[in-house]
Amino acid sequence: MSTVALITGAASGIGAAVARRLSAGGARCVLVDRDGEGAERLAKEVSGVALAADVSTEEASREAVALAEERYGRLDLVHLNAGITSGVDFAAFDAAQYRRAVGVNVDGVVFGVAAAVPLLRRSGGGAIVVTASLAGLVGYDGDPIYTMTKHAVVGLVRALAAPLARDGVRIGAVCPGFTDTPLVADARELFVNAGFPLLTAEDVAAAVESAFYAESPGTLLVVQPGRQPVPYRYAG
Ligand code: NAD
Repeated sequence: MSTVALITGAASGIGAAVARRLSAGGARCVLVDRDGEGAERLAKEVSGVALAADVSTEEASREAVALAEERYGRLDLVHLNAGITSGVDFAAFDAAQYRRAVGVNVDGVVFGVAAAVPLLRRSGGGAIVVTASLAGLVGYDGDPIYTMTKHAVVGLVRALAAPLARDGVRIGAVCPGFTDTPLVADARELFVNAGFPLLTAEDVAAAVESAFYAESPGTLLVVQPGRQPVPYRYAG
C-alpha cells in the first residue's frame, strides 16, 4: 500500500518540490492551494488530486482530509506548508493585513493538525511536518508579524510532540533560511548581489522528507545553504 500525503501550499515553491519528491518515491498526494489552477497543473504531473482551498478556514482542512480518505482511504504524511509574509508596518498598522497573516500561517496549521490527526490515527499513525522558518527561532526584524507567526507554530510543534506521539503521530518542523521561491522574489536580487547563498525549494523538500522520519518527536530541522539540516536545540 503506497503512502498518502497531504500538502498545503502545494502549487508553488517548497510545497510543489515536496509533492514532486514524495510522488517520485511512490506517494499519492492531496495538493491543497488557494491557487486551484496551479494545484490542478501539478496534480497532472505528479500522482495526486488537487483541492482549491484557503487554509485559513477550518473547512479547508476538513475538506482536504475528507478528500484523502475518500480518494485514497488513508493518510500517512501531512505537510502544513502554506504561508505568506505579512507586510505589516507598525507605523501604519493595518489590522486586516495582520489577521490575514495569522489566519494563513497560524490558523492554517492549527486547523490542519486538528483535521488530520483522527485520520492519521485511523491509518495506524503517521507524521506531520510544519514549514516554520529560521524566523521561528530568531527575532528576524524584517517582518515582525511573520516572525511572530513562525514562533507560534514552533511553539505548537514543541508542545504537541509528546501528546501526539502517544497516539502514534509524530510532529516536527523545518526551519529554512532564505529559499529561492516566488514568496521572496522581491528580495532575491538584493540577496544575490550581496553574494548571500540561497536554498532551493528542493533543498528544503529533502529536509521535509527527513523530518517526516525524524526519530524524536518535536524535531525542528534547521535548513541552511551548503549544510546538512541539523536539529535545533533550545538552551536549558
Ligand atoms: P510560495 O509563495 O512559492 O508558495 C506558497 C504557496 O502557498 C503558494 O502556492 C500559495 O498560493 C499558497 N498559499 C498561500 N496562502 C494560502 C492559503 N491561505 N491557502 C492555501 N494556500 C495558500 O512560497 P514558499 O517559499 O514555497 O513558502 C512555503 C512556506 O515556506 C511558507 O510557510 C513560508 O513561510 C515558508 N518559508 C519560506 C522561506 C523562503 O525564503 N521562501 C523561508 C522560510 C520559510
